[in-house]
Parts: sequence; structure tokens; C-alpha cells
Amino acid sequence: MMIQKNISLKPFNTFQVEANAAFFADIRQQSDIAEALEFAHDNSLPILILGGGSNFLFTKNFPGIVLHINTKGIEYLGEENEKVYLKVQAGTVWEDLLDYAMKEGFYGLENLTLIPGKVGSAPVQNIGAYGIELKDVFHSLEAIDLNSGLNQTFTLAECQFGYRQSIFKSSHKGHYLITSVTFALSKNFHPHLDYTDVKEYFEGQLPIAISPQALREAIRQIRLKKLPEVEKIGSAGSFFKNPVISEDTFQSLLTDFPHLTSFKVPEGIKISAAWLISHCGWKGYRQGDAGVWPQQPLVLVNYGKASGEEILRLANKIIQSVEDRFHIHLESEVNII
Ligand SMILES: Cc1cc2nc3c(=O)[nH]c(=O)nc-3n(C[C@H](O)[C@H](O)[C@H](O)COP(=O)(O)OP(=O)(O)OC[C@H]3O[C@@H](n4cnc5c(N)ncnc54)[C@H](O)[C@@H]3O)c2cc1C
Repeated sequence: MMIQKNISLKPFNTFQVEANAAFFADIRQQSDIAEALEFAHDNSLPILILGGGSNFLFTKNFPGIVLHINTKGIEYLGEENEKVYLKVQAGTVWEDLLDYAMKEGFYGLENLTLIPGKVGSAPVQNIGAYGIELKDVFHSLEAIDLNSGLNQTFTLAECQFGYRQSIFKSSHKGHYLITSVTFALSKNFHPHLDYTDVKEYFEGQLPIAISPQALREAIRQIRLKKLPEVEKIGSAGSFFKNPVISEDTFQSLLTDFPHLTSFKVPEGIKISAAWLISHCGWKGYRQGDAGVWPQQPLVLVNYGKASGEEILRLANKIIQSVEDRFHIHLESEVNII
């Protein structure tokens, strides 16, 4: 494997912003990892692990080594009762896994259709969409400790998955390189149709009449209406997380804003960040090439030549205005470098 110097990360991030990596390693096999880690340690370089770059905002150059994960492969491990177990290499494109599972008749991933990125990144923020999260189909993962170089297995409980959260995005952030993920899929199709958009799409149809292909197509259509297409407009999907607030705060907000969109979750009340942002007047806002997507104000976009700093400035203005009006702090879902 060749370690390259001074590489532009623009083709490797879906925001399509300019930033350079001092060093760049394209990881295609397990032995490349050891080589890249040795190089990083010998030269005391910080390490950044990059999958599809669809959850990053680069605001400056990265002075260390970027490990671009490109190891591919799906291995059928076996089945037990209704479950089928697949071990998938971290660099496998997420949508390729969904295509494979659909072709083989392994179910559970349909609602996660069209999420950009790679399999190894999926556990990092416990990707989720339309009522399903990665944790619902997760069995375990294998990772390399970046300090010791040793392999480690993490079970479902050990990953401590939460809403767009896991130990790999909190306490263990930057400590591990996930090399493979094992999924527990189902041989029987149990469609998840509870999410409002999905319910509306299939209105009047009996769940029994809905095929896995039809569900995937529904998710595709719903997403294409709301989200910018990755190849056409720069973005990282939802820029902000939906905030979770206490029941008391929620009740006092309801007095002034009776139409506030909310869902009960174990930690409190999750409210819609899109609603808060819209009510601060940001929907469709654009300054230069940095903007707020008109169909979904949670999504910040790069219409062409915006820099990472410009997008971050816009994000900070939005955070401040939501704080001023609602006294709620929005957190970014995206990894900001
Ligand atoms: C248009 C659009 C729509 C989106 N919709 C959704 C959605 O519906 N739901 C959702 O949850 N997300 C969504 N996202 C966000 C994004 O697609 C997911 O977070 C995805 O899992 C990121 O994958 P990636 O390979 O691009 O990761 P990257 O952006 O490359 O990396 C994300 C994080 O994971 C770390 N990482 C990557 N690979 C590894 C590895 N092998 N080991 C350890 N750490 C690693 C990185 O260091 C970084 O911290 C969307 C993004 C876009 C652009």
C-alpha cells in the first residue's frame, strides 16, 4: 500500500468542501491497516478514519493521516431459527449490503435504504431512518484498538447504542477502527410501517400486501422528495440532532407553541429540530453557496463553492437563534473537523 502525501479530501466528502490531508492511506486489506498504523505511530501523526465521508464537515486541513476504509466483502455465517447472520467488511458500501440482502431474501434493513456511506461507519452513530436503527439488526462488530493494534469484539450491549450515538462517537471516539460488522437479519419479512411518512405512502394498503421491494421503493421515494441527492448537492444529511428535553421544559414550551412536534422517548421528550429551525425562519435560507435545504431545514447544503467554515458559520447562527428563541441547544450530528 502506498501512503500518499497532501491529498485533497474534496472527492471524499459529500459536503464537497475543500480540505487537504497531510497523508492518506487507501485501506483495501487488513494488512494495510497495520502498515498505516505503524506509519502514524512512527511519525506521531493523528489518525482520522474515513468511510464515505457523508457525516463530516471539514473546516480546515487535517495535519495527520486519513485512513480511507475500502475493505469489501459479505460473508454468510449461518442461520438459527428465523435469523441469518452476515459478517460484512467495513468498506462495503451500505447500499450494496441492502441490495445483497434483498436479493438473498434477508430482511430488516429496508427502512435504511439510501443512507449514504459504508458499513463500518453505520454503528458509529447507530444510523437510523423511518423507525429503524442499526441496533435493531446488529449482532456484533470487530474493531482494532488504534493504540495497541489489538483486535476486539463488541457486542450489542457493549456498543451502548442510543439515538445517533454509540461509544464510538462518545467515550471511545477515535480509539477504534471498526473492521467488520455482523448483522442478524430475518428470513421472514416483517415490515416496519409505523413512521408517519411510510404510513401515508401505503395508506389504504394491507401490510400483508406490501413486498420488501415495495417498502424499499417507498423509502427511496420519500427520501428523494425531502433530501438533496448526494451526487448533485453537497450535504451531510441532517446536520443537527433532534433535542431531547425534560417534561417540565416541554410543558412550558407548549404554552407558547402548542403545535410543537414531539415524541416521547425514555430520556424525556424528543422535539423536532426541523420545527425549531423553521420557526426561526431559516427554511430555504441561503447566503452565498451555504444554505438550509428548502424541503428539510435539518439539512445544511453546499450549493457549489461554500467552504466548510462558511457552512459552520451558518450552523452556529442557527444554533444561536434557536437558543435565543426557545432556550434549547441544538447539537450537531455531523463530525466537524
Ligand atoms: C443525503 C444524506 C442523507 C443521510 N441520511 C441519513 C439517515 O437517514 N440516517 C442517518 O443515520 N444518517 C444519515 N446520513 C449521514 C451518513 O450517511 C451516515 O452517518 C453514514 O453512516 C456515514 O457513513 P460514512 O461511511 O460516509 O462515514 P464517514 O462520514 O466517513 O464517517 C463518519 C464517522 O464514522 C467514523 N468512521 C467511519 N468509518 C469507520 C470505521 N471503519 N471505524 C471507526 N470509525 C469509523 C469517522 O471517523 C466519522 O467519525 C445522511 C447523509 C447524507 C449525505
